[in-house]
Amino acid sequence: MIKVERFCFNTTKANCYVVSDETKECVIIDPCAWDSYERGQFLDYIRNEELKPVRCLLTHGHYDHLLSCDQVRDEFGLYPEVHHRDKLWMDRIEMRIEEVFGIGGFEYDIVKPKHYLEDNEVIAFGSHYLITLHTPGHSPGSAVFYCEKEHVAFTGDTLFKKSIGSTHSLFGYDVDLTNSLKYITTLLPDDCKIWPGHDLESTIGYEKKKNPYLLASWYKKEGDKKNLVVLTGAGISKESGLSTFRDKDGLWQNFNAQELASIQGYRRDRAKVLEFYNARRKNLLTVEPNHAHYVLAELEKEYNVSIITQNVDDLHERAGSTNVLHLHGELRKVTGSNNPNDPKCIVEKPLDEPILIGEKAADGSQLRPYIVFFGENVPNMTKAKRIAEEADIFVVIGTSLHVYPAANLTDSVTWGIPCFIIDPSESYGQAIYGFKHIKTTAVAGIDILKEKLNAL
Ligand SMILES: [Zn+2]
Repeated sequence: MIKVERFCFNTTKANCYVVSDETKECVIIDPCAWDSYERGQFLDYIRNEELKPVRCLLTHGHYDHLLSCDQVRDEFGLYPEVHHRDKLWMDRIEMRIEEVFGIGGFEYDIVKPKHYLEDNEVIAFGSHYLITLHTPGHSPGSAVFYCEKEHVAFTGDTLFKKSIGSTHSLFGYDVDLTNSLKYITTLLPDDCKIWPGHDLESTIGYEKKKNPYLLASWYKKEGDKKNLVVLTGAGISKESGLSTFRDKDGLWQNFNAQELASIQGYRRDRAKVLEFYNARRKNLLTVEPNHAHYVLAELEKEYNVSIITQNVDDLHERAGSTNVLHLHGELRKVTGSNNPNDPKCIVEKPLDEPILIGEKAADGSQLRPYIVFFGENVPNMTKAKRIAEEADIFVVIGTSLHVYPAANLTDSVTWGIPCFIIDPSESYGQAIYGFKHIKTTAVAGIDILKEKLNAL
């Protein structure tokens, strides 16, 4: 079992690692202690643990990762080793340190490598070894040191927790960095722990999901169905004849929302609220799914389709969609007033059977519609975010991107995946970065969406 000790040193908060195993041999990665205090901390650790350093490695040749190579040489007789393409950095390191810290401000005995590393070079210590993986981009000779046996990697300034290294330094190169990131995140297993050159540790699996610079499309196997996540709102049901809440001819014009759809209103006058929902439940029997609903169901042949809907109707299900998450509840279900989210209380009830005062749920409380009232929280939001995180393609139909919950969900979507919104309103344009706006209704827009999906 290897043991990793992390030190965070100097004004750039660079990480120095001491990697040891049960034999007490160890490898030092990026010795970068600044003053005597930091140098003392580092040396104390090695002495107290009775470790024997056998190699001194640099993830790259930038000054902030190698400030105490002289200490390592003096104490242990080891010289730093770095990938050979960073020789150009090592050759000009004095200049760079002077640029950053000023001439004479820093007493540093520059130590140059005696040996430069090759790609795939193996570094043995104790009963373990690290493989040098050349990952240019942040610098030409940046490298990741990987312990294959225990799935641990030291990623230097190539990959950080939820971020990546910059390519702004001299000789940094974007295209190289992108290729390197793709290379290591597909090569290393998801459970591989990563220890970066700055900040805290992470895992490859976590980064694939959360790091906005790593694209989901890199990790798809040939023949894998893509995850198509669709968020739908009132706009898609409107064309089936269900009136929307916010439109000027919508339901709210004829009824008082605060009275009929809030938890406070329900507590005040249960009979009135039940009457309203009984009418809505019955009304649902008079409408049919439309072309947009049917196309979304059909897309399951080609994609893993997940529908997240704000709608309480069952039109997606009736059109044949098999994976629908309702954020605001379902008209065709009922539950108890005391524990509305208790699965034991949630049951289906025929739409033409009214919910009566005095009718009880499984927990003995008054039966009520399985609807999230205003003033209640949305229990499926966490689940919805997780689904959005997994999306390869994200589509919004019939709801505004600017308001909850769409705005929250788009935050969870991986940066850079294809995103579309079908909505007839003018307001989008370039408003939401990355979304292609199909400016028409759901029924007309769904065929345009299909074409665009085929063209991806
Ligand atoms: Zn660097």
